[in-house]
Amino acid sequence: MDKDMWLFDCGEATQHQIQKFNGVPLGKLNKIFITHMHADHMFGLIPLMATSFNGMGGQVDEEDENRVQEAQQSKPFELYGPPGLREYVRKSLLLTFTLLGARYVVHELHPDTNPPPPSTTDCHPCEVVGKNIPSVDGIWTSFYADSNIRVDAAPILHSVFSLGFVVTEAPIPGTIDKQAIEPVLLRNKDALKAAGIKNHLSLLGKLQKGEIITLPDGTVLHPPATRQGRKIAILGDTHDASPIATIARGSNLLIHEATNAHLPEFDSAAKNMSLEEHQAWTMSRGHSTPQMAASFANTIDARALAMNHFSARYRADDEVMNTIKALAQGVKNEGEVFCAKDGMTLEVMKNGVVRMKE
Ligand SMILES: [Zn+2]
Ligand SMILES: [Zn+2]
Repeated sequence: MDKDMWLFDCGEATQHQIQKFNGVPLGKLNKIFITHMHADHMFGLIPLMATSFNGMGGQVDEEDENRVQEAQQSKPFELYGPPGLREYVRKSLLLTFTLLGARYVVHELHPDTNPPPPSTTDCHPCEVVGKNIPSVDGIWTSFYADSNIRVDAAPILHSVFSLGFVVTEAPIPGTIDKQAIEPVLLRNKDALKAAGIKNHLSLLGKLQKGEIITLPDGTVLHPPATRQGRKIAILGDTHDASPIATIARGSNLLIHEATNAHLPEFDSAAKNMSLEEHQAWTMSRGHSTPQMAASFANTIDARALAMNHFSARYRADDEVMNTIKALAQGVKNEGEVFCAKDGMTLEVMKNGVVRMKE
């Protein structure tokens, strides 16, 4: 987004990859969302926090009184994730004697409806104690919201508790057709003045805000139609994401894992398995295939699908990745399919179309 950068999951060496790619401003990072507590989604978190915090610099020495004081006054950096995240961050920072250049807060999404309050003993000096957010009917609705954006979450099936996040932009107001409306207002100018509205053009502002206006001559002006905001679903590891289907429906972009693909020509383990056996094996390990990712994209009517989290058993070259992509394309209804790779930028344009930026 324009002013913010958010990060979803933070595997080992994430900070190095972020720094490697120009145009990804680490200093704008102000929220991190963690899908689940598996190491490959977490092991970059503490190093990244220690390196950079909202442009304020990371690790500080105990002697650096000013920086510590500045940190105490800053708006806290926010982390959202599963139960255990707060303790993991707190203990890791404390045990490694790491002081940060900013305050941070951890909010945990709890599956129970009445979670215990967060522990407030042995906090880290830079920690602001966050909330344990209960789920209601199995989901977390608008657990984060500001005037532009809201985030919902739901649990998805994996070998451990795993979350999917849905980021939704607020409806975008349409534009007023001034050329058509101004003459109508002008026609009513005197009558409006008589009714106490000195400036007939001030009604344009009310219209833009969504008000329906009836003019003295009986003309009814309707506000411009709002356009649906953009929507992105970002899922953690899963072998069945169906619990998030309802809230993820209509996403412009779905980020879904495709850990294992049936590629007998590239993968010796797949040689002795049928397609069905391979899918069952993949699911038994808590993961998905490209076909499963595409099928879920169809279920939620997602326009574009970006697959990630490919097993290290596959070569990350174009030949293999294009084969994986083709497996998903064979299942997916219309819309784009992408295989994610480090440094790739996908833009969800205002018209909802997703395109890869070079
Ligand atoms: Zn993983
Ligand atoms: Zn996992």
